[in-house]
Amino acid sequence: MRFVIENFGCQMNDHDMEKMGSVLIDHGHVAGKDIDDADVVIVNTCCIREKAEQKFYSLMGRLQHLRRKKETILGVTGCIAQQEKENIFERLPFIDFSLGPSNIHLVAEAVEKAAAGRIRTSAFGDNGGSPSLVIRPHNTRRGIKGYVTIMKGCDNFCSYCVVPYVRGREESRKGTDVLAEIREMAERGIVEVTLLGQNVNSYNNGSDDLSFPELLCEIDAIPGISRLRFVTSHPKDISPDLIACFGTLKTLCESIHLPFQSGSDRILALMNRGYTSSEYLARVEALKEQCPGIAFTADCIVGFPGEDDEDFEATMRLMETVRFDGVFSFIYSARRSTAAALLPGRVPPAIAHERLSRFQKRQRVITLDSNRAMEGTRVEVLVEGQSKNSADELSGRTRTGKIVNFKGDPGLVYKLVEVDIIKGYANSLRGELPDTPGR
Ligand code: SF4
Repeated sequence: MRFVIENFGCQMNDHDMEKMGSVLIDHGHVAGKDIDDADVVIVNTCCIREKAEQKFYSLMGRLQHLRRKKETILGVTGCIAQQEKENIFERLPFIDFSLGPSNIHLVAEAVEKAAAGRIRTSAFGDNGGSPSLVIRPHNTRRGIKGYVTIMKGCDNFCSYCVVPYVRGREESRKGTDVLAEIREMAERGIVEVTLLGQNVNSYNNGSDDLSFPELLCEIDAIPGISRLRFVTSHPKDISPDLIACFGTLKTLCESIHLPFQSGSDRILALMNRGYTSSEYLARVEALKEQCPGIAFTADCIVGFPGEDDEDFEATMRLMETVRFDGVFSFIYSARRSTAAALLPGRVPPAIAHERLSRFQKRQRVITLDSNRAMEGTRVEVLVEGQSKNSADELSGRTRTGKIVNFKGDPGLVYKLVEVDIIKGYANSLRGELPDTPGR
């Protein structure tokens, strides 16, 4: 059967989508591109923000029509499936299966049961040993870049976040399994590996298996791997050993995603983040010391309950101090089951929007400044393919994660090349190969 997986949310969800695709292909199904031509449509969901949830329900409205027309098999997976459990069949009675994030290994079975006679499947258990965690996707979609889940779940219970409720408690994969998977990837030609987990800094906490910094050291020694990244890091869990890795490991890229969420200590306490703004800044300084030129990206929430003008100004100050290369910024949205949903002091939407727009406007300037500062430098680029904007240009990323577009031979795709940066824009860089004629 031809299947399509629609995906919402984070890199963990992208990776879960690849895992499900690989399981279905292993069972003889074929990946398709168009929902209208598919025999099976699976929607992999995210409920971290209200917007993603709204988008999901509007897509399901469209799929209901499709189901009436051609009996397409429909499945829901991921965080909304886990949050709603069996209730999802009341709200969406036309779907055939619903699987929580720890149960996506059952996807082929669920499709086959539905095909055999509309037998409905649901699974939302936390699965000790998590078979879904150890699925090795084929990684066909990204060529030379590979993603590896090293842990799942989160024990932090930030007051606004549903992840601990829908993804469960932290669970780490064995170091030997992770390393075996990465060695296999290197043999297949993968040169850049990104380690995934809700809080990778807590990898193997409380166990005598490899710690996270030890895992990074082992991966650094694997022949063929040139670039190593990880996401996501919790600022309170970054250890001195991990910070030291940025000064010593040749493969560890000079970039880190370090969500700060707010610059106000009062709001950080209400968020239950476990650090103050000065502790956050101390870690940023330590990382800069170990790795001059390191690029910082982050997440930030504005309009958290109780946030006043002074709190918001503290957030603006923190942004100015760090000078992030990019920030994913959002207006707070209350999520069911979370402690913050019960907090008083809702920020009026007009004020929250005004703050978000001020924040984003300033961050765009900082990002542009940072991109312009790269003009005249020579950087290593991993060429990922043709540029989205021009058929005769190539596109790739620097070690700091910036997109570079430049003219070059298609034979350079999937290679590491040196590129001279000639222009910095808001979202990308323009480059030239050093031996471009006429320079
Ligand atoms: S660290 Fe906080 S924000 Fe991140 S997944 Fe855990 S609870 Fe959610």
